Amino acid sequence: MTNPFETEQGGPATDNSGVTASVKFHAGYDSPMIVVKGGSARQVLTMLEDTEAMNGVVDAVAALDKYAHDKAGVSAPAPGAKPGSGRPASATQHPTGKKMYCEHDGQQVERVYKSGVAKSGKNAGKEWRAFDCARGDENHPRIWDRD
Ligand SMILES: [Zn+2]
Repeated sequence: MTNPFETEQGGPATDNSGVTASVKFHAGYDSPMIVVKGGSARQVLTMLEDTEAMNGVVDAVAALDKYAHDKAGVSAPAPGAKPGSGRPASATQHPTGKKMYCEHDGQQVERVYKSGVAKSGKNAGKEWRAFDCARGDENHPRIWDRD
């Protein structure tokens, strides 16, 4: 967290009343950020209210950010990609795309893939994967998927 009242090293002594406003593009840790500094809140406000100039800055930063990402070979996460740790808790598809079926009225019905992390028992903390009957048929018990 940047102290908005912090003076820059070597900055003019009179700069200690300066105001900094930082604008992040999005909540991600890798979000580009625009920092507007002014001698007073009013000065910062004046700069921020110059929407034409600010939009230009935003566009330029966005373009630069995209260029930097392309340069680094980092592509935007694919739709549906799990951000962060890759925890399987919300996964709706088997990691290898495996599917299981059970039969209802002579038809193959795809089972529902579920996964999570065991909270208790001897497997506590371990990932589990299973396929449940999509229709909740009690004659079709959960099939555990183990490595
Ligand atoms: Zn079933």
